[in-house]
Amino acid sequence: MAISLPRLLRNAATRGKAVFFRRVTLFHCFGFPVKADGSWLFLSVLICWTLINKHFPVIYAGHSPQVYQLMGFAAICGIFASIIAHEVAHAIIAEHYQMPIESITLFIFGGVAVMKGDPSSPKGEFLMAIAGPIMSVIMGLLFWAAKLGVVFYFPTAVAAWQVLGYLAGLNLVIALFNMVPAFPLDGGRALRAIIWKRKDNLVLGTRIASELGAIFAYGLLVYALYCIVFRGETGMWQGIWFGLLGYFVHGAGAYAVRQTESRSLLGSETVSRFMNSQVIAVSPDLTITDLVDNYVYKHYQRSFPVVDRGELTGLISLQSILSLDRHKWHWLHVASVMEPLNEKNVVTPDFNAADALELMQRLQKEQLLVADGKKFLGVISHRDLAAYLSITLKIDSNKPVITSRTA
Ligand SMILES: [Zn+2]
Repeated sequence: MAISLPRLLRNAATRGKAVFFRRVTLFHCFGFPVKADGSWLFLSVLICWTLINKHFPVIYAGHSPQVYQLMGFAAICGIFASIIAHEVAHAIIAEHYQMPIESITLFIFGGVAVMKGDPSSPKGEFLMAIAGPIMSVIMGLLFWAAKLGVVFYFPTAVAAWQVLGYLAGLNLVIALFNMVPAFPLDGGRALRAIIWKRKDNLVLGTRIASELGAIFAYGLLVYALYCIVFRGETGMWQGIWFGLLGYFVHGAGAYAVRQTESRSLLGSETVSRFMNSQVIAVSPDLTITDLVDNYVYKHYQRSFPVVDRGELTGLISLQSILSLDRHKWHWLHVASVMEPLNEKNVVTPDFNAADALELMQRLQKEQLLVADGKKFLGVISHRDLAAYLSITLKIDSNKPVITSRTA
Protein backbone atom coordinates (compact mmCIF):
# COMPACT_ATOMS: atom_id res chain seq x y z
CA MET A 1 0.00 0.00 0.00
CA ALA A 2 1.40 3.37 -0.97
CA ILE A 3 1.39 5.94 1.81
CA SER A 4 2.48 9.50 1.17
CA LEU A 5 5.37 11.00 3.13
CA PRO A 6 3.26 13.76 4.75
CA ARG A 7 0.83 11.10 5.94
CA LEU A 8 3.71 9.04 7.39
CA LEU A 9 5.07 12.07 9.17
CA ARG A 10 1.66 13.02 10.48
CA ASN A 11 1.18 9.49 11.77
CA ALA A 12 4.57 9.55 13.45
CA ALA A 13 3.82 12.91 14.95
CA THR A 14 0.24 12.32 15.91
CA ARG A 15 0.54 8.88 17.36
CA GLY A 16 3.76 9.55 19.15
CA LYS A 17 5.11 6.59 17.34
CA ALA A 18 7.56 6.01 14.60
CA VAL A 19 5.61 4.48 11.77
CA PHE A 20 7.86 5.31 8.84
CA PHE A 21 8.80 1.73 8.18
CA ARG A 22 8.54 -1.62 9.91
CA ARG A 23 9.78 -1.65 13.48
CA VAL A 24 11.84 -4.48 14.89
CA THR A 25 12.57 -5.20 18.54
CA LEU A 26 16.34 -5.11 19.00
CA PHE A 27 16.65 -6.04 22.68
CA HIS A 28 15.28 -5.30 26.14
CA CYS A 29 16.93 -2.70 28.36
CA PHE A 30 15.84 -2.38 32.01
CA GLY A 31 12.72 -4.30 31.00
CA PHE A 32 11.76 -1.92 28.16
CA PRO A 33 11.67 -3.25 24.61
CA VAL A 34 14.05 -1.19 22.46
CA LYS A 35 12.68 -1.08 18.91
CA ALA A 36 14.20 0.36 15.78
CA ASP A 37 12.32 1.82 12.88
CA GLY A 38 13.66 1.32 9.35
CA SER A 39 14.27 5.07 9.17
CA TRP A 40 16.85 4.76 11.94
CA LEU A 41 18.89 2.27 9.91
CA PHE A 42 18.82 4.69 6.98
CA LEU A 43 19.85 7.60 9.21
CA SER A 44 22.67 5.71 10.95
CA VAL A 45 24.17 4.65 7.61
CA LEU A 46 23.93 8.26 6.42
CA ILE A 47 25.55 9.63 9.61
CA CYS A 48 28.30 7.01 9.53
CA TRP A 49 29.07 7.80 5.88
CA THR A 50 29.11 11.56 6.55
CA LEU A 51 31.42 11.17 9.59
CA ILE A 52 33.88 8.94 7.69
CA ASN A 53 33.98 10.91 4.45
CA LYS A 54 33.18 14.52 5.34
CA HIS A 55 33.16 15.42 9.03
CA PHE A 56 36.12 13.65 10.64
CA PRO A 57 38.62 14.32 7.78
CA VAL A 58 37.83 18.03 8.17
CA ILE A 59 37.90 18.42 11.97
CA TYR A 60 40.52 15.73 12.71
CA ALA A 61 42.86 15.87 9.70
CA GLY A 62 45.88 13.60 9.21
CA HIS A 63 44.54 10.03 9.52
CA SER A 64 44.43 7.28 6.90
CA PRO A 65 41.06 6.29 5.31
CA GLN A 66 41.04 3.04 7.35
CA VAL A 67 41.38 5.00 10.60
CA TYR A 68 38.48 7.28 9.56
CA GLN A 69 36.37 4.17 8.94
CA LEU A 70 37.13 2.83 12.42
CA MET A 71 36.41 6.25 13.92
CA GLY A 72 33.07 6.41 12.07
CA PHE A 73 31.95 2.97 13.28
CA ALA A 74 33.04 3.70 16.85
CA ALA A 75 31.21 7.04 16.76
CA ILE A 76 27.95 5.53 15.46
CA CYS A 77 28.05 2.91 18.27
CA GLY A 78 28.62 5.73 20.79
CA ILE A 79 25.70 7.74 19.34
CA PHE A 80 23.47 4.66 19.59
CA ALA A 81 24.43 4.14 23.27
CA SER A 82 23.91 7.86 23.99
CA ILE A 83 20.36 7.91 22.57
CA ILE A 84 19.38 4.68 24.35
CA ALA A 85 20.72 6.05 27.66
CA HIS A 86 18.72 9.28 27.20
CA GLU A 87 15.46 7.41 26.46
CA VAL A 88 15.99 4.79 29.19
CA ALA A 89 16.34 7.64 31.71
CA HIS A 90 12.93 9.00 30.57
CA ALA A 91 11.41 5.53 30.74
CA ILE A 92 12.67 4.69 34.24
CA ILE A 93 11.30 7.93 35.73
CA ALA A 94 8.02 7.52 33.82
CA GLU A 95 7.52 4.02 35.22
CA HIS A 96 8.33 5.30 38.69
CA TYR A 97 5.48 7.84 38.40
CA GLN A 98 2.98 5.29 37.07
CA MET A 99 3.21 6.40 33.45
CA PRO A 100 3.62 3.06 31.70
CA ILE A 101 6.06 2.98 28.79
CA GLU A 102 5.16 0.85 25.81
CA SER A 103 8.58 0.87 24.17
CA ILE A 104 11.69 2.85 23.38
CA THR A 105 11.78 3.38 19.65
CA LEU A 106 14.66 4.65 17.58
CA PHE A 107 13.60 6.51 14.50
CA ILE A 108 14.82 9.21 12.16
CA PHE A 109 14.96 11.98 14.80
CA GLY A 110 16.77 9.89 17.40
CA GLY A 111 14.66 8.14 19.99
CA VAL A 112 11.27 8.33 21.60
CA ALA A 113 9.94 6.69 24.77
CA VAL A 114 6.36 5.82 23.78
CA MET A 115 3.96 6.30 26.71
CA LYS A 116 0.69 4.37 26.99
CA GLY A 117 -1.32 7.15 28.63
CA ASP A 118 -1.22 10.73 29.82
CA PRO A 119 1.25 12.01 32.45
CA SER A 120 -0.01 11.29 35.96
CA SER A 121 1.08 14.50 37.75
CA PRO A 122 3.01 17.73 37.05
CA LYS A 123 5.86 16.48 39.21
CA GLY A 124 6.08 13.14 37.36
CA GLU A 125 5.92 14.87 33.96
CA PHE A 126 8.58 17.40 34.95
CA LEU A 127 11.02 14.84 36.34
CA MET A 128 10.43 12.48 33.42
CA ALA A 129 11.11 15.31 30.97
CA ILE A 130 14.38 16.47 32.51
CA ALA A 131 15.69 12.95 33.18
CA GLY A 132 16.70 12.54 29.51
CA PRO A 133 18.79 15.72 29.19
CA ILE A 134 20.35 15.08 32.63
CA MET A 135 21.38 11.62 31.43
CA SER A 136 22.85 13.17 28.26
CA VAL A 137 24.93 15.55 30.40
CA ILE A 138 26.12 12.57 32.47
CA MET A 139 26.98 10.64 29.30
CA GLY A 140 28.83 13.71 28.00
CA LEU A 141 30.88 13.91 31.20
CA LEU A 142 31.62 10.18 31.07
CA PHE A 143 32.86 10.42 27.49
CA TRP A 144 34.91 13.48 28.48
CA ALA A 145 36.46 11.61 31.42
CA ALA A 146 37.23 8.65 29.13
CA LYS A 147 38.87 11.04 26.68
CA LEU A 148 41.09 12.50 29.44
CA GLY A 149 41.97 8.95 30.53
CA VAL A 150 43.05 7.99 27.01
CA VAL A 151 45.04 11.24 26.56
CA PHE A 152 46.81 10.57 29.86
CA TYR A 153 47.50 6.84 29.59
CA PHE A 154 47.60 6.29 25.80
CA PRO A 155 48.68 9.65 24.36
CA THR A 156 49.48 8.09 20.98
CA ALA A 157 45.90 6.79 20.49
CA VAL A 158 44.91 10.11 18.94
CA ALA A 159 41.92 8.79 16.95
CA ALA A 160 40.42 7.16 20.08
CA TRP A 161 40.43 10.31 22.19
CA GLN A 162 39.20 12.38 19.26
CA VAL A 163 36.12 10.13 18.90
CA LEU A 164 35.52 10.24 22.68
CA GLY A 165 35.79 14.04 22.60
CA TYR A 166 33.34 14.15 19.68
CA LEU A 167 30.83 11.97 21.60
CA ALA A 168 31.23 14.14 24.74
CA GLY A 169 30.37 17.26 22.76
CA LEU A 170 27.52 15.54 20.95
CA ASN A 171 25.84 14.51 24.22
CA LEU A 172 25.96 18.10 25.45
CA VAL A 173 24.37 19.21 22.16
CA ILE A 174 21.63 16.55 22.59
CA ALA A 175 20.97 17.83 26.14
CA LEU A 176 20.84 21.48 25.05
CA PHE A 177 18.68 20.86 21.97
CA ASN A 178 16.19 18.83 24.00
CA MET A 179 15.89 21.52 26.65
CA VAL A 180 14.51 24.09 24.16
CA PRO A 181 11.11 24.91 25.73
CA ALA A 182 9.15 23.76 22.69
CA PHE A 183 6.71 20.87 22.97
CA PRO A 184 7.17 17.93 22.25
CA LEU A 185 10.86 18.38 23.09
CA ASP A 186 11.84 17.65 26.71
CA GLY A 187 12.13 21.35 27.57
CA GLY A 188 8.58 21.88 26.28
CA ARG A 189 7.31 19.02 28.43
CA ALA A 190 9.04 20.49 31.47
CA LEU A 191 7.48 23.90 30.73
CA ARG A 192 4.05 22.28 30.33
CA ALA A 193 4.47 20.62 33.74
CA ILE A 194 5.41 23.95 35.38
CA ILE A 195 2.36 25.75 33.92
CA TRP A 196 0.18 22.76 34.80
CA LYS A 197 1.37 22.94 38.42
CA ARG A 198 1.06 26.74 38.72
CA LYS A 199 -2.30 27.21 37.00
CA ASP A 200 -3.66 23.74 37.79
CA ASN A 201 -4.51 23.45 34.11
CA LEU A 202 -2.93 20.79 31.90
CA VAL A 203 -4.76 21.99 28.76
CA LEU A 204 -3.40 25.54 29.17
CA GLY A 205 0.12 24.19 29.80
CA THR A 206 -0.06 22.03 26.70
CA ARG A 207 -1.38 24.93 24.58
CA ILE A 208 1.40 27.33 25.60
CA ALA A 209 4.17 24.73 25.26
CA SER A 210 2.81 23.69 21.86
CA GLU A 211 2.55 27.27 20.63
CA LEU A 212 6.24 27.73 21.50
CA GLY A 213 6.80 24.39 19.77
CA ALA A 214 5.11 25.74 16.63
CA ILE A 215 7.32 28.87 16.65
CA PHE A 216 10.37 26.65 17.06
CA ALA A 217 9.12 24.42 14.23
CA TYR A 218 8.81 27.43 11.89
CA GLY A 219 12.36 28.43 12.90
CA LEU A 220 13.55 24.95 11.93
CA LEU A 221 11.78 25.19 8.59
CA VAL A 222 13.40 28.57 7.85
CA TYR A 223 16.80 27.14 8.80
CA ALA A 224 16.10 24.11 6.58
CA LEU A 225 15.42 26.41 3.63
CA TYR A 226 18.60 28.35 4.36
CA CYS A 227 20.64 25.09 4.36
CA ILE A 228 19.10 23.87 1.11
CA VAL A 229 19.55 27.17 -0.72
CA PHE A 230 22.91 28.39 0.58
CA ARG A 231 24.91 25.46 1.91
CA GLY A 232 25.59 23.26 -1.09
CA GLU A 233 25.58 19.48 -1.17
CA THR A 234 25.88 18.67 2.57
CA GLY A 235 23.48 21.49 3.40
CA MET A 236 20.92 19.76 1.20
CA TRP A 237 20.73 16.71 3.51
CA GLN A 238 20.79 18.84 6.64
CA GLY A 239 18.03 20.98 5.16
CA ILE A 240 15.85 17.98 4.41
CA TRP A 241 16.40 16.59 7.90
CA PHE A 242 15.66 19.90 9.66
CA GLY A 243 12.61 20.37 7.43
CA LEU A 244 11.22 16.96 8.41
CA LEU A 245 12.02 17.67 12.07
CA GLY A 246 10.15 20.99 11.91
CA TYR A 247 7.14 19.29 10.35
CA PHE A 248 7.25 16.59 13.04
CA VAL A 249 7.52 19.06 15.96
CA HIS A 250 4.59 21.06 14.57
CA GLY A 251 2.37 18.01 14.08
CA ALA A 252 3.17 16.48 17.47
CA GLY A 253 2.36 19.75 19.28
CA ALA A 254 -1.01 20.14 17.54
CA TYR A 255 -1.85 16.53 18.35
CA ALA A 256 -0.92 16.92 22.02
CA VAL A 257 -3.26 19.91 22.32
CA ARG A 258 -6.15 17.96 20.80
CA GLN A 259 -5.35 14.98 23.02
CA THR A 260 -5.33 16.89 26.30
CA GLU A 261 -8.41 18.88 25.25
CA SER A 262 -10.32 15.68 24.58
CA ARG A 263 -9.21 14.27 27.92
CA SER A 264 -10.40 17.33 29.79
CA LEU A 265 -13.69 17.54 27.86
CA LEU A 266 -14.49 13.86 28.26
CA GLY A 267 -13.39 13.93 31.90
CA SER A 268 -14.69 10.88 33.69
CA GLU A 269 -17.45 10.13 31.13
CA THR A 270 -17.78 6.44 30.41
CA VAL A 271 -18.27 4.52 27.19
CA SER A 272 -21.96 3.87 28.00
CA ARG A 273 -22.80 7.53 27.36
CA PHE A 274 -21.56 7.48 23.76
CA MET A 275 -22.41 3.89 22.92
CA ASN A 276 -24.62 3.14 19.92
CA SER A 277 -26.81 0.14 20.64
CA GLN A 278 -28.58 0.20 17.25
CA VAL A 279 -26.00 -2.06 15.65
CA ILE A 280 -26.77 -5.09 13.51
CA ALA A 281 -25.10 -8.26 14.78
CA VAL A 282 -24.58 -11.42 12.74
CA SER A 283 -24.57 -15.14 13.46
CA PRO A 284 -21.34 -17.19 13.27
CA ASP A 285 -23.09 -19.75 10.99
CA LEU A 286 -23.54 -17.34 8.06
CA THR A 287 -21.44 -17.88 4.97
CA ILE A 288 -19.38 -14.91 3.78
CA THR A 289 -21.56 -14.66 0.64
CA ASP A 290 -24.69 -14.37 2.85
CA LEU A 291 -22.95 -11.84 5.04
CA VAL A 292 -21.95 -9.64 2.10
CA ASP A 293 -25.30 -9.90 0.25
CA ASN A 294 -27.68 -9.62 3.20
CA TYR A 295 -25.77 -7.47 5.71
CA VAL A 296 -22.82 -5.54 4.27
CA TYR A 297 -24.78 -4.23 1.25
CA LYS A 298 -27.89 -3.56 3.34
CA HIS A 299 -26.56 -1.94 6.49
CA TYR A 300 -23.29 -0.32 5.32
CA GLN A 301 -21.50 -1.20 8.59
CA ARG A 302 -17.74 -1.63 8.23
CA SER A 303 -17.74 -4.36 10.85
CA PHE A 304 -20.28 -6.62 12.50
CA PRO A 305 -20.31 -8.07 16.00
CA VAL A 306 -20.81 -11.82 15.91
CA VAL A 307 -23.44 -13.00 18.39
CA ASP A 308 -24.34 -16.63 19.03
CA ARG A 309 -27.47 -17.34 21.11
CA GLY A 310 -27.25 -13.99 22.83
CA GLU A 311 -23.51 -14.25 23.54
CA LEU A 312 -20.90 -12.05 21.89
CA THR A 313 -18.29 -14.34 20.31
CA GLY A 314 -16.27 -12.23 17.88
CA LEU A 315 -16.06 -9.46 15.33
CA ILE A 316 -15.96 -9.59 11.55
CA SER A 317 -14.73 -6.60 9.59
CA LEU A 318 -14.94 -5.61 5.96
CA GLN A 319 -11.14 -5.64 5.92
CA SER A 320 -10.92 -9.33 6.86
CA ILE A 321 -13.64 -10.16 4.30
CA LEU A 322 -11.69 -8.37 1.57
CA SER A 323 -8.50 -10.21 2.46
CA LEU A 324 -10.21 -13.53 1.59
CA ASP A 325 -10.11 -15.22 -1.77
CA ARG A 326 -13.51 -14.49 -3.38
CA HIS A 327 -13.91 -18.12 -4.52
CA LYS A 328 -14.02 -19.19 -0.88
CA TRP A 329 -16.85 -16.81 0.07
CA HIS A 330 -19.67 -19.29 -0.54
CA TRP A 331 -18.31 -22.02 1.71
CA LEU A 332 -16.38 -20.14 4.43
CA HIS A 333 -18.37 -19.28 7.56
CA VAL A 334 -18.19 -16.17 9.68
CA ALA A 335 -17.02 -18.29 12.64
CA SER A 336 -13.81 -19.29 10.83
CA VAL A 337 -12.92 -15.76 9.71
CA MET A 338 -13.97 -13.56 12.66
CA GLU A 339 -11.50 -11.87 14.98
CA PRO A 340 -11.54 -13.34 18.49
CA LEU A 341 -12.49 -10.98 21.32
CA ASN A 342 -9.67 -9.36 23.27
CA GLU A 343 -8.86 -6.15 25.15
CA LYS A 344 -8.05 -4.48 21.81
CA ASN A 345 -11.56 -4.75 20.35
CA VAL A 346 -13.99 -4.93 23.26
CA VAL A 347 -14.52 -2.69 26.30
CA THR A 348 -16.99 -2.64 29.19
CA PRO A 349 -19.69 0.09 29.42
CA ASP A 350 -17.97 1.64 32.47
CA PHE A 351 -14.63 1.98 30.59
CA ASN A 352 -13.35 5.58 30.49
CA ALA A 353 -14.37 7.27 27.20
CA ALA A 354 -11.06 9.17 26.86
CA ASP A 355 -9.14 5.90 27.27
CA ALA A 356 -11.36 4.30 24.63
CA LEU A 357 -10.63 7.17 22.23
CA GLU A 358 -6.92 6.84 22.82
CA LEU A 359 -7.07 3.07 22.35
CA MET A 360 -8.81 3.50 18.98
CA GLN A 361 -6.24 6.08 17.90
CA ARG A 362 -3.33 3.94 19.01
CA LEU A 363 -4.63 0.83 17.25
CA GLN A 364 -5.97 2.81 14.28
CA LYS A 365 -9.43 1.32 14.82
CA GLU A 366 -12.69 2.97 13.87
CA GLN A 367 -14.74 1.38 16.63
CA LEU A 368 -14.75 -0.87 19.66
CA LEU A 369 -17.40 -3.32 20.80
CA VAL A 370 -19.08 -2.73 24.14
CA ALA A 371 -20.04 -5.78 26.19
CA ASP A 372 -20.88 -6.63 29.75
CA GLY A 373 -19.31 -10.05 30.18
CA LYS A 374 -20.61 -11.99 27.16
CA LYS A 375 -23.65 -9.74 26.71
CA PHE A 376 -23.33 -7.52 23.64
CA LEU A 377 -24.48 -3.94 24.31
CA GLY A 378 -23.35 -1.85 21.33
CA VAL A 379 -20.36 -0.12 19.77
CA ILE A 380 -18.44 3.05 20.50
CA SER A 381 -17.04 4.74 17.42
CA HIS A 382 -14.19 7.14 16.86
CA ARG A 383 -16.41 9.24 14.61
CA ASP A 384 -19.12 9.73 17.28
CA LEU A 385 -16.58 10.73 19.94
CA ALA A 386 -14.82 13.11 17.55
CA ALA A 387 -18.18 14.71 16.62
CA TYR A 388 -19.07 15.15 20.32
CA LEU A 389 -15.67 16.73 21.03
CA SER A 390 -15.79 19.15 18.11
CA ILE A 391 -19.30 20.32 19.04
CA THR A 392 -18.43 20.68 22.75
CA LEU A 393 -15.25 22.60 21.87
CA LYS A 394 -17.26 25.01 19.68
CA ILE A 395 -19.87 25.58 22.39
CA ASP A 396 -17.15 25.99 25.05
CA SER A 397 -15.21 28.55 23.03
CA ASN A 398 -18.42 30.48 22.34
CA LYS A 399 -19.40 30.95 25.99
CA PRO A 400 -20.34 34.56 26.81
CA VAL A 401 -17.67 36.30 28.87
CA ILE A 402 -19.09 37.84 32.03
CA THR A 403 -17.29 41.16 32.44
CA SER A 404 -19.12 42.63 35.43
CA ARG A 405 -21.67 41.41 37.83
CA THR A 406 -23.36 43.01 40.79
CA ALA A 407 -24.31 40.86 43.71
ZN1 LIG B 1 14.30 13.34 25.67
